[in-house]
Amino acid sequence: MTHGHGHGRGHADGPLTSVEEHLAEILGTITPLEPAELGLGDVHGLVLAEDVAAASALPSFDNSGMDGYAVRVEDVAAATEENPVTLPVTAEIAAGDTGAYALQPGTSIKIMTGAMLPRGAEAVVPVEWTDGGGVRVTIRAKARHGDAVRLAGEDARAGEVLVTAGTLLRPMHVAVIAAAGRGSVLVRPRPRVVVLSTGNELAEPGSPVVPGRIWDSNSFMLAAAAREAGCLAYRQAILPDHPDEVLPAIEDQLLRADLMITTGGVSMGGEHDVVKAALQRLGTITFRKVAMQPGMPQGFGTIALPAAEVPEEPRSRPGLSLRRRDAYAQAAAPAPAPGERVPIFTLPGNPVSAFVSFQIFARPALGALQGYGGLGLEKIRAELTGPLRSPPGRCSFLRGVLDRGRGTVEPLTGQGSHQVATLGRANALIVVPERVAQLAKGDMAEVLVLP
Ligand code: AMP
Ligand code: MG
Repeated sequence: MTHGHGHGRGHADGPLTSVEEHLAEILGTITPLEPAELGLGDVHGLVLAEDVAAASALPSFDNSGMDGYAVRVEDVAAATEENPVTLPVTAEIAAGDTGAYALQPGTSIKIMTGAMLPRGAEAVVPVEWTDGGGVRVTIRAKARHGDAVRLAGEDARAGEVLVTAGTLLRPMHVAVIAAAGRGSVLVRPRPRVVVLSTGNELAEPGSPVVPGRIWDSNSFMLAAAAREAGCLAYRQAILPDHPDEVLPAIEDQLLRADLMITTGGVSMGGEHDVVKAALQRLGTITFRKVAMQPGMPQGFGTIALPAAEVPEEPRSRPGLSLRRRDAYAQAAAPAPAPGERVPIFTLPGNPVSAFVSFQIFARPALGALQGYGGLGLEKIRAELTGPLRSPPGRCSFLRGVLDRGRGTVEPLTGQGSHQVATLGRANALIVVPERVAQLAKGDMAEVLVLP
């Protein structure tokens, strides 16, 4: 029997754990990072940790919705294209002018968009309906009460919650928070993710390889995927398959990690499965087979900074001295407290297995660290353009090309968990549930959209 293939549910090594069960256990372990107050310039992409309310009504004063002339409705009631009305212009109010103006009956005041409406004004006649005059203005159409006027509070009431805790801050949210007058807000920091790859066969991309060696793709992929999920990612040097090197290397990185991800070395118990061998002893990490393909061998748990190595003084993160920390890095969590437990994923080594495992398990966990429930992949249904097969008893995640416009998904050929070329062509994962062994062309399938 080869590692990672051909096991069914209830195999001699014990029953498989379902994808849902494994994910639920992971999420049950994760506590969100402590929020921090950050300036508005640095919060895009972070998760809000407080409700943000309008400090005052929005807008806070009645103002003009257009460039034009503030008038009383009755003074322009007779205005038409053929019989325009001419009014004297007594003042001009620009946006930002804080003066107290009053409109006298039978006159007009020139006013710009966003400028405070003068007392007594009932409407604004757009400049396009006039001759644009500066001393006198000729108006060719009547206005109704409230035309081109923005009333105080019509956007939001004072105290109204505009963005709720748990929102992933996108540019529109940043706009609202700023418009509500807040210069800084409480957000969850970016989780710091350390990625470690193991394997004697691995070489740095860019360096030459001889037959028998391959380039390490997983660690770069996982670091990129962690960044996509809102994290700061640190990729570590490749670790050899030697148990004595693995644990110290992991412990060494704990200080800078809110979550760790390893790849490789967790197959079904071979002597080269160094990650499993090194971490199993700690007893805080569960290694199991999950009923999925690819990605059956999974490990998850927590790992603590060894007591002897806990620094007395709180340390800043290695490689990020205070001087060199930019705003982006400041949006990361502070270094973990002594003895704090760090969640760790030990993902399988096959590149597609590692990728799928990250998307299905690690990405939601990174969301949970940020106090955000929305990092599960977007799920839609699409029509298969070809047939597919899946091992019974295991949930398959097959690479596919989704056409959202047509509502179709094409299963790609070359679904081996080492076949990274197919990964590069895919934009979606077709989910084939455990109990389903095959689907035909034209069947509807559940599809996860890849971020
Ligand atoms: P392992 O889980 O260590 O038994 O590895 C399973 C398969 O994945 C082997 O073919 C490895 O060569 C391959 N593999 C492991 N780590 C990586 C990596 N970082 N990048 C690309 N392939 C890898
Ligand atoms: Mg290996």
